[in-house]
Amino acid sequence: MSETKADQAKVYQQDTKLTHTGNHPDAYHGFVNPPVVHASTVLYPDYDTMKNRKQKYTYGTRGTPTTDALCEVIDEMEGSAGTVLVPSGLAAITIPLLAFVKSGDHILVLDSCYGPTREFCDDVLVRMGVDVEYYDPLIGAGIAELLKDNTSVVFTESPGSNTFEVQDIPAICKAAHERNAIVMIDNTWATPLYFKSLDYGVDISIHALTKYPAGHSDLVLGSVSANERCWKQLHRHHGIMGCCASPDDTYLTLRGIRSMGVRIREHEKNAIEMAKWLEDHPAIASVLHPALPSHPQHEIWKRDFKGSTGLFGFTLKTDDMEKAARFYDALELIGRGYSWAGYESLAVLVNLSDRKIAKGTGDGILVRLNVGLEDPADLKADITQALRAGGFTN
Ligand SMILES: *Cc1c(COP(=O)(O)O)cnc(C)c1O
Repeated sequence: MSETKADQAKVYQQDTKLTHTGNHPDAYHGFVNPPVVHASTVLYPDYDTMKNRKQKYTYGTRGTPTTDALCEVIDEMEGSAGTVLVPSGLAAITIPLLAFVKSGDHILVLDSCYGPTREFCDDVLVRMGVDVEYYDPLIGAGIAELLKDNTSVVFTESPGSNTFEVQDIPAICKAAHERNAIVMIDNTWATPLYFKSLDYGVDISIHALTKYPAGHSDLVLGSVSANERCWKQLHRHHGIMGCCASPDDTYLTLRGIRSMGVRIREHEKNAIEMAKWLEDHPAIASVLHPALPSHPQHEIWKRDFKGSTGLFGFTLKTDDMEKAARFYDALELIGRGYSWAGYESLAVLVNLSDRKIAKGTGDGILVRLNVGLEDPADLKADITQALRAGGFTN
């Protein structure tokens, strides 16, 4: 039996799939990339086709060849049944929660979630009459004790935002599924290159495409990918909510994702070099990086992840916020700004005041560092001079 194109695709390695999936030059006169389709109206040949939605594309909010190309790549990387695109990473969190949670439900959210996830839960979901409970990200199989008959969703994120706890995702999924709850993950840090969450039991995988897939600090976009169990409901809700992605940002992300493999490996290498250097630095109390053997969940990370990316934390040896701010304000090359995974390094002085359980290492003031694509020697020099300006060294 001769091999079909789809059969051949299965034997390709990950980088090859990342490079080629979603491109259909035969459909566009040989052009390698798909067109950027700007669309509201799609025309139908007759009433029957229109009434019964008998054609692939029906309206601008319901997908175009451009969004399909990006969704195809993400599905291939995630191993998902389907993917929807939304206007931001935050919308990639709020849309699936709204699709799967109803009034009267109980949901479990890790305490070290991305800050705006908590704001959405505490505001919108609580107003809807949802019982939102935050759990210790390190709970693992112990989550069984928190699951109730009305628990509909367990929300995970690994590593946790800012404090970088690596969660035992298989153990959490097993316990959640025994009680018929679904598991969502904010998988932004690892990308599907380094953590194939659906293979570990997760039902819904969320990405801020703003980060490594786009990779250039010039757009916001999100994706939500579901397994067979959840795809139909997610897809239906995405249509109902009208929360679709812009064609240009979708195209730029498709352009970015083609080079994501090489970019991530460089971010990874630079970040590990910076983390090791900081770990040995006398002004630094601790480094929170899952790929370092000193990380408390290093073994879980090694078991489940294929690599690490460019974002990690370190704590300054001080409890004096003004001293920490002097260090921070003295940074010249490393920018002060939110978001991460772009080509340029950024630092944030982390505020953990909304945390109930996951309060970090407890010693020193926490800095989150996004390591970009600069030469690490220049980043070290910048941190060295800023530590001196902050009074941490002579
Ligand atoms: C940045 C980020 C988001 C939100 O993405 P936006 O596109 O900025 O809305 C969600 N989750 C995590 C973990 C993030 O770092």
